[in-house]
Amino acid sequence: MFTVTLKPKRDRPTRMGHPWIFSGAIDKVDGAPAPGEPVTVRAASGDVLGVGAWSPESQIRIRMWCFGREALVDEVFFREKIAAALAVRAGMAERFDTDALRIVNAEADGLPGITVDQYGDVLSGQFTTVGAEWAKPMVVRALMDLTGAKSFYERSDVDGRAREGLEQVTGLLAGEAPPERVIIHEGEVRFGVDVRNGHKTGYYLDQRESRRIVASYAKGRDVLNTFSYTGGFGIAAQKAGAKSVTHVDISGPALAQARANTTLNGFTEDSAECIQANVFQELRAFRDRGRQFGLVVLDPPKFAETRAQTMKALRGYKDVNVLGMKLVEKGGYLATFSCSGAITPDLFRSMVAEAARDAGRTVRIVQELRQAPDHVEALTFPEGLYLKGLLCHVE
Ligand code: SAH
Repeated sequence: MFTVTLKPKRDRPTRMGHPWIFSGAIDKVDGAPAPGEPVTVRAASGDVLGVGAWSPESQIRIRMWCFGREALVDEVFFREKIAAALAVRAGMAERFDTDALRIVNAEADGLPGITVDQYGDVLSGQFTTVGAEWAKPMVVRALMDLTGAKSFYERSDVDGRAREGLEQVTGLLAGEAPPERVIIHEGEVRFGVDVRNGHKTGYYLDQRESRRIVASYAKGRDVLNTFSYTGGFGIAAQKAGAKSVTHVDISGPALAQARANTTLNGFTEDSAECIQANVFQELRAFRDRGRQFGLVVLDPPKFAETRAQTMKALRGYKDVNVLGMKLVEKGGYLATFSCSGAITPDLFRSMVAEAARDAGRTVRIVQELRQAPDHVEALTFPEGLYLKGLLCHVE
């Protein structure tokens, strides 16, 4: 293995277990590691800090596979990592009454660049870095073997691959072709997941626990489910006894699946309203028509891709929150989210406070919401917390 030595005083994050080493921290490289190849990382003192994957094109030049030792990063190594990731999720399927879990959560599982969701018998994964690409065959073998899944589909159609000098790829990695729709369940609610064409790996598992919590406030209320994707929050609300459900999303295929999910759960297709529109415009249209709801869900996409976009993103979040709050009946509820990692829980909370002031509403936090527990966070990698939300009572 080639060795990479860090500059003096630049070893602290790595010693603390942070998985990223930026190009500016690197002093010298002995040899010419290929993209994705494991390298031994040493401090200026010569101490071995661990082994990481070499990413020559990325500002994040090394992503650590292990710390404090010079391990052989091979088939056995990845099999142990995967077994450990599965052990972390032991009992979760029963506890959350589901057959769909995130089973590999990248850095948080010591597997930077690798995200794998399990939908019943089907695995769907993203490999976003050259290190992940290098490890892919070993990771795929370990996962197929240890989960007993029938299919492994790849959804590495993510923009981040370009920063690593990688093309986007999708397709079958192992096993048989997955069904067109994999039917999963979250409690008694069922969803069809299209792993080939759906967003990310096919579905947003990170909102599973929030869907359950928010739905428990839906009984007898008119529910507005914005950024609905395939119906998630709204269908859970309908199952929980909502008086009416309105889904709004810009994506036609997502709403087609929302309709299919409505009937899949025993409701007639027209029992929920599906509106294909830009949420910002549709919320204004509701306001102008004086339409009100007992529960409003705001689950926008990532507005900040980078830290530099934080301010602009905050304005977007605030706009949608002001508009959304105005539509909540007195004594109703608002469930509002942000999945931008750059927006911290504190920033998010102050944005919601400003929105409440501008909307002229008294808003109380009933419950803080987070990404579902199968999306574990490493203590050494605070960047891993990306999804936060507030369930609010609105006066
Ligand atoms: N709440 C969903 C996940 C939402 S993902 C769930 O529980 O599964 C975000 C969704 O916002 C995507 O479906 C995307 O199509 C939609 N979207 C993005 N920008 C939009 C806009 N301006 N107006 C309407 N929908 C938008």
